[in-house]
Amino acid sequence: MLPLFAELEAISGCRDRNMLGGIILQAFAKMLGERADVALFRRDQGDTGLTRCVGPTVMAATFGPWEGLLQAIQFAGTLKTEVKNGRLYGVIQLHSSEVSTAKVLIAYAAEEKLAKDLEDSLLSVTRIYGNHVKLLDYSELDSLTRLLNRKTFDETFERLLQASSAEDSDEDMVERRAKEDGAAWLCVIDIDHFKRINDNFGHLFGDEVLLRMGDLMRKSFRSGDRLFRFGGEEFVVILNAEDEILAAKGFDRFRQAVEGNEFPQVGKVTCSIGFTKVSDMDMPTDVVGRADEALYYAKEHGRNQVQCYEALRRQGAIAGPTVAEAQMNDFDIDALFD
Ligand code: GH3
Ligand code: MG
Ligand code: MG
Repeated sequence: MLPLFAELEAISGCRDRNMLGGIILQAFAKMLGERADVALFRRDQGDTGLTRCVGPTVMAATFGPWEGLLQAIQFAGTLKTEVKNGRLYGVIQLHSSEVSTAKVLIAYAAEEKLAKDLEDSLLSVTRIYGNHVKLLDYSELDSLTRLLNRKTFDETFERLLQASSAEDSDEDMVERRAKEDGAAWLCVIDIDHFKRINDNFGHLFGDEVLLRMGDLMRKSFRSGDRLFRFGGEEFVVILNAEDEILAAKGFDRFRQAVEGNEFPQVGKVTCSIGFTKVSDMDMPTDVVGRADEALYYAKEHGRNQVQCYEALRRQGAIAGPTVAEAQMNDFDIDALFD
């Protein structure tokens, strides 16, 4: 097989954004040869610092030698190089996905000046990566709000629970972060009295509210949190938090952001939120069902509030599943085929 074909095939066949960084890193390592070092860095929005995502041939040092270049890069797809102590350092910013506001930069250090051909190939692979990210965005995002769509939720639920960040290529790091950040929590958000908004102002202004809700979600939640438009005027968020109180705080911060926002023409809008803890054994329908129960409670008790399924159960405010339902949930389908 011609050099690089395997990597290009891997990029174009990859549906998991967490893996893409590792694949392009491997392509760079192959193109630059054994004596080069390559690394991937991430810069989160509003953050001046950089995080290094570990790659296959990463140096033990931190980003020291690349620091100036990493800071200087402004646009995706451009290459900046410098020679220091007889070594050539280069940095390219990858094309970003709309899913995350983080910028990903690929850096290399080589022994000598690169041939023009090789430099062009590095940029070309970067563009192929960018084109693929665009395609992924096209199929996974809701066209109105640019949040992840329902299909993506269904298809990637398990993976989402393992990875809390879009561009981490290192599985150990993802696992470590999941442990540090605590359990996953899922909330369902539903706009209050949305029918009235449509009735009073028309669908176009209704759609405008949905669009602004998407913007507010991107502003209120952290870049590693997963944001979905679930259907009509319902949204889902999955985030990691150490405990129930911190999760509730995160969701309530968003509720307040909506309450405090002035929507064009429509004015004030509120939303109700139900959330639940996600366990390893959960099926997507179980988790959404529990969050929905808490949401229903919020709707029944005055709207514009956040309710937690587990807290409501502890207080006896809502009943658990009936014995028959619990048995259905515990039913081991595999046992039938043993
Ligand atoms: P509640 O506080 O109980 O949630 O009241 P609600 O009026 O929001 O009730 P419900 O959730 O049942 O109604 C949702 C409405 O959202 C129904 C539908 O007309 C409207 N809707 C659903 N999808 C869209 C959309 O894509 N655009 C617009 N403009 N409206 C939508
Ligand atoms: Mg609804
Ligand atoms: Mg509603």
